[in-house]
Amino acid sequence: MFRLFILAIALAIASGQARAQFQTRFQTDPPPDLQRWADMLRKSNMPKSTAFLLNRIAAIPRPVMVSFKSCGHVNAQYDPGNDELTFCYELFSDLGERITQKAREGRATPEQTAAALGGAIWFILYHEVGHALFHQLNVPLLGREEDSADQLAVWLAIHRPPPGLDDGVIGALSFFATGSPLSWDRLGDEHALDQQRLQNVACWAYGADPVRFGWLPALVNLPEHRQGRCATEWKKIDDAVPRLLGRALKQPAGRT
Ligand SMILES: [Zn+2]
Repeated sequence: MFRLFILAIALAIASGQARAQFQTRFQTDPPPDLQRWADMLRKSNMPKSTAFLLNRIAAIPRPVMVSFKSCGHVNAQYDPGNDELTFCYELFSDLGERITQKAREGRATPEQTAAALGGAIWFILYHEVGHALFHQLNVPLLGREEDSADQLAVWLAIHRPPPGLDDGVIGALSFFATGSPLSWDRLGDEHALDQQRLQNVACWAYGADPVRFGWLPALVNLPEHRQGRCATEWKKIDDAVPRLLGRALKQPAGRT
């Protein structure tokens, strides 16, 4: 009888672990002005592929729901109280407008514009996944969590890019390119200024691969003295992420 009891507990734990994954859902009937984003998600199968990709990156102790929905405001956030990551349709819409405008100014092709938008969406998602992993895995942090989430997002964009989207880093640049107006509120915010996040992301990507991203420092006016530090900054991130995520970090597909 005792053995059956132990077996029942083991099965309960095993089934709990099996359910402890990233799951996704999306609102199919948002307000009419956001319907195109719900349709885009449905056609692209993005919610399903997002869950598949995230579950290949990390094992988590509790299920995390990734929700795509209308929030009434522009935002993406991870809510530790509910183990829920929300990506608002309003943010899709805002990104779409901002990146299309930038692309028009830069005479980008429709393909380049779509890649920048896709990259920005994935970078933001990876940033929020960073918050989720820090919370789920109880990762110790020093410094601003927002900076750490950007570091993890760049690490994921470099090492675990979504299929068909090699340049999540470039998407992040288009997201931050608008810049933050200087104010005491912005200076005291938990996020670095967009201009700083822009240069950070460019620096870390350049540090990771100075050949592939050799053009980035000039694009974002990265100061020369910082360029010389980028390889070291990236190495610290590249060393820290696997150590901080530990056994929860899964090996990339194809490796054992
Ligand atoms: Zn954040």
